[in-house]
Amino acid sequence: MATSNHDVAADEAGATVKFENVQKSYDGETLVVKDLNLDIARGEFITMLGPSGSGKTTSLMMLAGFEPATHGEIYLDGAPINNVPPHKRGIGMVFQNYALFPHMTVAENLAYPLKVRGKSRSEIDERVRRALAMVELPEFGARRPAQLSGGQQQRVAVARALVFEPNLVLMDEPLGALDKQLREQMQFEIKHIHENLGVTVVYVTHDQTEALTMSDRVAVFNDGVIQQLSTPEDLYEHPMNSFVAQFIGENNKLSGKVSEIDGDECVVHLDTGETVRAAAINVDGVGARTTLSLRPERVEIQPGPELGNSLEARVREMIFLGDHIRVRLAVAGNEEFIVKVPNKHDEHELKEGETTTVGWHASDCRALDPIEVA
Ligand code: ADP
Repeated sequence: MATSNHDVAADEAGATVKFENVQKSYDGETLVVKDLNLDIARGEFITMLGPSGSGKTTSLMMLAGFEPATHGEIYLDGAPINNVPPHKRGIGMVFQNYALFPHMTVAENLAYPLKVRGKSRSEIDERVRRALAMVELPEFGARRPAQLSGGQQQRVAVARALVFEPNLVLMDEPLGALDKQLREQMQFEIKHIHENLGVTVVYVTHDQTEALTMSDRVAVFNDGVIQQLSTPEDLYEHPMNSFVAQFIGENNKLSGKVSEIDGDECVVHLDTGETVRAAAINVDGVGARTTLSLRPERVEIQPGPELGNSLEARVREMIFLGDHIRVRLAVAGNEEFIVKVPNKHDEHELKEGETTTVGWHASDCRALDPIEVA
């Protein structure tokens, strides 16, 4: 894919990005991005995911060039860019509020990034036509943004970010203003465009489902720090601390202290007095506090003795969801303990208010570093 001479990025689809010891403070005191180190591969779709205020947008703005880094360096295709102004970085951008020029037609909006790059009239026409086809709006060039629906406007915004064939596209909550159905449709469209073009995408969202659906890798942010960077599957199956376990997917938490470590496993003395075995994933040693993480689909109600762990539980609520039953229980002080029970005829029928037991394999119960949302 060709890029203009003004662009920093190399003449190849997709750019590499590197954040090296990047910090950001707006007021000279508090670091809102603490020590960001992140390598993004050519053509990768990477998502910065985290709660509001965790530093995602600030990190993206530093990459775009709209905010200077307080410390550290950012590289685009191996070249340092801290001193390169935004319009010379050759980066496409899409934000939540479309930011289309209201007085221009759709075609004029798309032509704009090409005009400022000095493209010829015939090349502009051809690229605008292709960009409109890509987002499935071939007939909409003559309309003004106000004559389009929210979803159509956002498609035009995506087309405008891609029309000058950048190697890197930044998207900050681009689907946040759309309703659920349109959002899901656009997730797939953006994903397909990414696959077809081979462009590198850095995407910001606070929506974990969106992050898991679209990304090659997800960087989970909390309080200006990447808590874990991995594939969606790995983040779900192998969270390294209780923040990530809580933020990705559904999670049951139990708190206690490590009383014994035995190879890969540990014994945890819960704050409510019970003792359980868990996988020693990220524990500081005997005596350290830990938060246990249990996925609802890995817990059994009335487990057989072979599971090794069994705790008393009180059934609080049962919700029938067709293929499974979602049971809410009180377990070791956690009143919101969720278990998903497959819908089988032969299951013992539970009743609300009844006392039962829950259990799990030690390997499905992860003893983690107890990090909470900042
Ligand atoms: P996120 O994108 O994860 O919601 P942000 O990067 O927007 O987080 O914000 C991180 C922190 O920096 C927040 O505490 C926010 O209030 C603060 N912040 C963001 N932009 C500015 C700004 N322009 N001036 C001062 N503080 C800011």
